Amino acid sequence: MIGLVKGMAVTLKGLVSPKVTYKYPDVPLDMPDRFRGIQYFDPEKCIVCNACVRICPTDCITLSGKPNPDPGKKGKVIATYEINFELCMLCDLCTEVCPTEAVVMTNNFELTAYSRDELYKDMDWLSKNDTKIRSENNVAAVMKGGRKDAE
Ligand code: SF4
Ligand code: SF4
Repeated sequence: MIGLVKGMAVTLKGLVSPKVTYKYPDVPLDMPDRFRGIQYFDPEKCIVCNACVRICPTDCITLSGKPNPDPGKKGKVIATYEINFELCMLCDLCTEVCPTEAVVMTNNFELTAYSRDELYKDMDWLSKNDTKIRSENNVAAVMKGGRKDAE
């Protein structure tokens, strides 16, 4: 009998305590700003230096450049940029070494797919993955709301 009362007390306590679960995926999860999610790539910022490719521990980035079409400018511009998310472990090293912040982490973690081929993301896909750029890499967000860690 005492056990039954104790059990009911635990149940009643659970009924009135605040919820700790989320209605995901109906309600999107608000990830912490330091979360390392799927990269955003900005082709305009890339200087084709290859630093991200060289540092990647899983060799999952492939890129190619082409001569700058602007005759007044030297150097290359990016032609193709791909990340294989079968191999990427979202370690953040590529974004740390990028001198121009052309590649940055986002808070997007949703990579489920029915086919392995879908985990191979090209420049077009990566450049559209721009809705959850973490604020410390997102100049527009920083200007608007200020850095969270600077408060
Ligand atoms: S996050 Fe790490 S594993 Fe993924 S592409 Fe960048 S360096 Fe490579
Ligand atoms: S490190 Fe940055 S600038 Fe250099 S190739 Fe990679 S994305 Fe482009």
